[in-house]
Amino acid sequence: MRVVVIGGGFGGMAAIKTIYKAFPADDKSAMPEIILIDKHDHSTMLPSLPDIAGMRIEPEFAIGKYSETAPNGVKIIKACVEMVDFQTKSVVTEKETYVYDYLVFASGSVANFYNNTPEFIVKCHKLDTLEDALKLKDGFTTEISNFDTVNVVISGGGFTGLELATNLYHRAKYAKKKVNIYMIELCDRILPMLGEKRSKYVTNKMKALGIEFLTSESVVSFEERKVTLKSGKIIDNTFFCWCSGVKMGLKAIGSHTVKDEKLSTKERTMYLRRAVNFAYMQGKIAGKNILASLKVKEYKPYKMVDLGWVIPLYTTSIGEAFGKKIQGRKGIAMHYIICGVKNYSFKNLYNYCKFAIIFMFTKE
Ligand SMILES: Cc1cc2nc3c(=O)[nH]c(=O)nc-3n(C[C@H](O)[C@H](O)[C@H](O)COP(=O)(O)OP(=O)(O)OC[C@H]3O[C@@H](n4cnc5c(N)ncnc54)[C@H](O)[C@@H]3O)c2cc1C
Repeated sequence: MRVVVIGGGFGGMAAIKTIYKAFPADDKSAMPEIILIDKHDHSTMLPSLPDIAGMRIEPEFAIGKYSETAPNGVKIIKACVEMVDFQTKSVVTEKETYVYDYLVFASGSVANFYNNTPEFIVKCHKLDTLEDALKLKDGFTTEISNFDTVNVVISGGGFTGLELATNLYHRAKYAKKKVNIYMIELCDRILPMLGEKRSKYVTNKMKALGIEFLTSESVVSFEERKVTLKSGKIIDNTFFCWCSGVKMGLKAIGSHTVKDEKLSTKERTMYLRRAVNFAYMQGKIAGKNILASLKVKEYKPYKMVDLGWVIPLYTTSIGEAFGKKIQGRKGIAMHYIICGVKNYSFKNLYNYCKFAIIFMFTKE
């Protein structure tokens, strides 16, 4: 019996650990073979990517190497999955094909560029992976060393765009450079998923830094450092970042049916924001469902539990925990402590607790 797990992020690793723990420590002979396939040799604390681009957090504190985090006996394959075929139950990588009995599809998300051309995409900075964050960080270092006035354009006024904006703003400020940040948002306000009052709170905080919001707008082209918007407005000599939404990265062919309460891919009436907690809980339930099908455990329906969320915005934050609204400095501490707890080692947890204290008292 073979379980193939694509992606060792929060979801994939939770599934692996759930299966592993269900078998006695001194006898794993009945446990299915588990193969983890990931294009990286580590998982990444993705919520820290804006801080890595902003040079607040060192990349080594935001990763967990599979050789250290995966349970003993799990076969780790570093390869990029190119295709999944549900019909033949196979996972195709650039090197080899793996046939599975059970598949955990946990490859996360990638930036959604909608109908933009490959030429456009290749020119944009984005924040999908650690490599993207490092490229953005280095690109911005060059930008602030080449120009006295830095023009940053960020497409997308959601969580990621705002976190990135505050990080780049402070980097430019510490380098004593003048910075103009333009946030381009398709809706008529930023953070459209929040109520109007809370969206306004963030807008005012950001405006106080000089960040300009261009709402009901979109980017139509980015050529030779020049961004052109739908309205015809042109922003020249820019450092351009794309944070306009995500989609599933990996596609599958064939069809499969699973009942909804067991985590189906069938249409949902509600969208969940992407979050570490959901990925973790869904991975865990996928592991439990595999155990149930192996008759090791009972089937468990998936129940969405939303404990809350926080967006750290350098010296302030906005969020909700256990139904209670949070904003300001205390949300900052909460964000980094939670990231520490979900991080991959005690060393990382220790460092994130330090960040929680330092960042809570960072001056404007
Ligand atoms: C910039 C940013 C900020 C965020 N901030 C927050 C936050 O503050 N709070 C919060 O709760 N959530 C936040 N999120 C969302 C959260 O990080 C994700 O919801 C969570 O990481 C999803 O976990 P996952 O296991 O599904 O996928 P991931 O953590 O993305 O893991 C997927 C794994 O699959 C691998 N993979 C992908 N494609 C392939 C392939 N073709 N072949 C092989 N391997 C592949 C990748 O290498 C990766 O290791 C943020 C995300 C981003 C990008």
